Amino acid sequence: MNHFPVFLALEGRRVLVAGGGDAAVAKLRLLLKTTARITVVAEAPAPEIEAWAAEGKLSLIRRGLEPGDATCCVVAYGAHEDAALDARTLELARADGALVNIVDNLELSQFITPAIVDRDPVVVAIGTEGAAPVLARSIKADLEAALPARLGLLARIGKTFRKAADALPFGAPRRRFWAEYYAEAGPRAAEAGETAVRAALDTLLAEHIAAEARPGHVDLVGAGPGDPELLTLKARNALDRADVVIHDRLVAPAILELARREAILVEAGKEGFGPSTAQDDINAMMVEHGLKGSHVVRLKAGDPTVFGRLDEEIEALEDAGLSWSIVPGITAASAAVAGIGQSLTKRGRNGSVHLLTGHDVKGFADQDWRALAEPGAVAAIYMGKRAARWMQGRLLMHGGRPATPVTIVENASRPDQQVRAATLATLPDALTDIEGPAVLLLGLAPRAAVEAIANREIAL
Ligand code: SAH
Repeated sequence: MNHFPVFLALEGRRVLVAGGGDAAVAKLRLLLKTTARITVVAEAPAPEIEAWAAEGKLSLIRRGLEPGDATCCVVAYGAHEDAALDARTLELARADGALVNIVDNLELSQFITPAIVDRDPVVVAIGTEGAAPVLARSIKADLEAALPARLGLLARIGKTFRKAADALPFGAPRRRFWAEYYAEAGPRAAEAGETAVRAALDTLLAEHIAAEARPGHVDLVGAGPGDPELLTLKARNALDRADVVIHDRLVAPAILELARREAILVEAGKEGFGPSTAQDDINAMMVEHGLKGSHVVRLKAGDPTVFGRLDEEIEALEDAGLSWSIVPGITAASAAVAGIGQSLTKRGRNGSVHLLTGHDVKGFADQDWRALAEPGAVAAIYMGKRAARWMQGRLLMHGGRPATPVTIVENASRPDQQVRAATLATLPDALTDIEGPAVLLLGLAPRAAVEAIANREIAL
């Protein structure tokens, strides 16, 4: 690390900008956010600078830089965009004792200005020591999206509440309180303004003080179909705060990576017909960790409310007196239709869509085959590989046309996603070498362009 990041106290201190063109204006836009006393020395200042001077936001000296201009300045910027003039700025301002930055010139600069994400008083500074400005900009864009717009307001109000929060025990309880304030209660209340945020803090503190006497909490979280970018922000936040993560085998490793470093990860394998952990054992595990006061994340593939045996888990939690909440996720059917460029419902084709399972506790699952065999019917069939031949028979028996499209989407949204276009007639055979999790989309064929890509993939 060649450049050490610091946050400089600028209140009442002087900052000099030498130059009056675009580079100077860009720097001034940043500097004007601070409490510094700004002086601009420029022979031909841009209209923006003239306007700021007229509004009293900075002092403007209309001439070239002279010795003594940077006296008492903490930092000075050479923003002439002219090598000779900037070199002179460096020499004069240094002599006056200021730290100097020459815009876009890493070699000559004694300090560099980072890319900034501003949620004052929360400020994130991103620097790459000049190595990758594009990367800095993309990290900035990610952070801009990730940090709530009103984080600054929340932090300012939060600061005034620190004493009150001392009522909670030091360590994890206090950390949990602040984490919930910044992630959920605060942003929600901020929509309604400052008074609402203060009220929300009071309520939240009362809740946390009461919860201290109670056991932990279980979040039943949807991990989505596999692509980590398809996680919800809520799911990410829950993983970030988890003490224990109990996950299905189907949950992709890249998603487990996002769990808090100290979290205990437990695999509760439930995968089609493979070896699996009994539901009772999963329930017992959640309850055991919850009663110890842990924040448990029960991480389930796709959406937890779709073929996830969610109700059994909720009942177990309620029986144990544990609090719980559901964080929805993107279900495999949504990822699968996205993968073939189609939609689940379409005007004039189907006004309803069926989510089916190929097998249930009793074996192959019976369905309303007559409705499913109707022209235009669309169904997303989960866990359908083993039951495919049986379902084919049922559908044909109830009048389904053999040419009805059925598209198999294996590993939807993952790098190894595979799309295979079949028909009701060819269905069981088209599945023979499909090994990963797959959704069968009855009534949908890949859109032409997607089909071309899929065929190429199959040909390769
Ligand atoms: N709750 C999950 C479904 C669990 S049942 C969800 O909402 O997606 C397990 C079945 O989901 C698998 O047998 C398979 O049919 C389907 N599935 C899960 N992830 C999948 C993926 N990435 N691609 C295709 N099918 C998937």
